[in-house]
Amino acid sequence: MTFTVHGQAVSRGVAIGRAVIVTSSRVDVAHYFIQPDQTAREIERLCQARQAVVQDIERTQAHVQAMDAAIAPPELLALLDVHLMLLQDEQLDQSVRQWIEERHYNAEWALTAQLEVVARQFDEMDDPYLRERKADVEQVVERMLRILQGNASTVMPTAVDPQAKALAHREDPLVLVAHDLSPADMLQFKQSVFAGFVTDVGGKTSHTAIVARSMDIPAVVGARTASQWVRQDDWVIIDGDAGVVLVNPSPAILDEYAVKQRSGERERERLSRLKHTPSVTTDGQRIELLANIEQPADAAAALKAGAVGVGLFRTEFLFMGRNGQLPNEDEQYRAYVATIEGMQGMPVTIRTVDVGADKPLDRPMVRVGEEHLNPALGLRAIRWCLAEPAMFLVQLRALLRAAAHGQVNVLVPMLAHASEIHQTLGLLQRAREELDAQGTVYGPIRLGAMIEVPAAALTVPLFLKHFDFLSIGTNDLIQYTLAIDRADETVSHLYDPLHPAVLRLIADVIAQGKAQGKSVSVCGEMAGDVAMTRLLLGLGLRSFSMHPSQILSVKQQILRSDAQRLSVWANSVLEADDPVSLMND
Ligand code: PEP
Ligand code: MG
Repeated sequence: MTFTVHGQAVSRGVAIGRAVIVTSSRVDVAHYFIQPDQTAREIERLCQARQAVVQDIERTQAHVQAMDAAIAPPELLALLDVHLMLLQDEQLDQSVRQWIEERHYNAEWALTAQLEVVARQFDEMDDPYLRERKADVEQVVERMLRILQGNASTVMPTAVDPQAKALAHREDPLVLVAHDLSPADMLQFKQSVFAGFVTDVGGKTSHTAIVARSMDIPAVVGARTASQWVRQDDWVIIDGDAGVVLVNPSPAILDEYAVKQRSGERERERLSRLKHTPSVTTDGQRIELLANIEQPADAAAALKAGAVGVGLFRTEFLFMGRNGQLPNEDEQYRAYVATIEGMQGMPVTIRTVDVGADKPLDRPMVRVGEEHLNPALGLRAIRWCLAEPAMFLVQLRALLRAAAHGQVNVLVPMLAHASEIHQTLGLLQRAREELDAQGTVYGPIRLGAMIEVPAAALTVPLFLKHFDFLSIGTNDLIQYTLAIDRADETVSHLYDPLHPAVLRLIADVIAQGKAQGKSVSVCGEMAGDVAMTRLLLGLGLRSFSMHPSQILSVKQQILRSDAQRLSVWANSVLEADDPVSLMND
């Protein structure tokens, strides 16, 4: 049956592929294709894992049977029987093998793919006793996965490009469908096989969406119940421009979207010719186009898009997916130096760690029992850093050391209070003194503040006094000005970059920075949205930082713009009660 699901358009383009349904808890299972001649080895890994679990259960059974009959729990024996039965189920075994033999999935992926199919069958059962057996299948599969992970495949994951891989193996491209994915999960998928993805939850500027945009694959978030309706292996079209997901489309619709997909590719090819064109408006204003990145390897995409530096390196991604272990000073130093070298002498703006809210660490950030209802208003970003000064000093020392290798700008997120500014400056001084005491080499940095809390936007002179530059984080500035959780799809219709209050704050910060001769950039998603380029230029913005994939489209818009004329128009937008109505003037 063909049906359509609507969500938030977060990453442009069209992806067409077969659905892979993944639950968040199993996202860290390795997903890769094996070569056809590696099938037997992969099935062998599966058999070994199953055998190991069977033996383990049989040992437990023997142990329970040897217990005094009075204390041996009979339910446990019955449960172990059920688990053994499931492990020996021929049909389950056959189906898992099929994913390996026909689709060339690795063993872990094949197992979880079949688990999703079986779990749905259980969910649809009328009998509550049978429905609950789903938990048993899940337990058995989890045990096998643990064994498989301890017996990692010697098979190397194949190339990353999904289209190229699909062609090489004559396989269909795959799209990921999940209820939710954390930003850390998403980062893992950067190296994966998926051509696009859909999640039930999330807003346009949630961090999951931001990482998707940086991957430059079509994506839709906030698609509500998509993961319940789409089935494993369904054909899916993701229209990342319209925020629409079409499931099991007719051949005519498939053809139509294939045409759209090709025309998107041609448009990108055309834009790529602008890479070396200087970014200058028709009236001669030079505009700085910088890249937002999440990891050192992203420097390559930044260079490819013609960025003149990194305007935002979100270092928190170095802190995620590490089972709660934080990166030490040397690890961080190496990551920062790799980025500086990757940018070949261009300036690199590195933001101090911004965990919390929708980017939690994978270890508790607060004590058990002290979880907070509103993490976006809680211990996040600089607040967490100041609460954990030893951790913060590690990062500051690593940044200062890296600055000996090139121009480093250090950017501090979420500042609102003078006391936070003073504490940050104090810790930076202490980090320098510690390096001096060790005789460790370090370099000069420029220090910047993110303006992303309305309180900061309303006290810009304080920030200009202490910092060399400002960067406006519009994602949070909008969230906190309008009291809209940026990750909550149920209020996403109220998340409005064009709200007069938001525009006034942005305009004031730009104007005050300019008056003091200090550079102001925008590094939130607004900077990469071509629909906002003219307005930001008109408000006086001369430095934009965005995902590398957005740079050339924004440059194209800049090349067609007259900044002088736009400033007159932008002033009228600023004065309007309904700025949207003037946007196409
Ligand atoms: C912002 O808030 O606009 C920003 C760039 O920071 P982040 O999206 O990482 O919160
Ligand atoms: Mg922010």
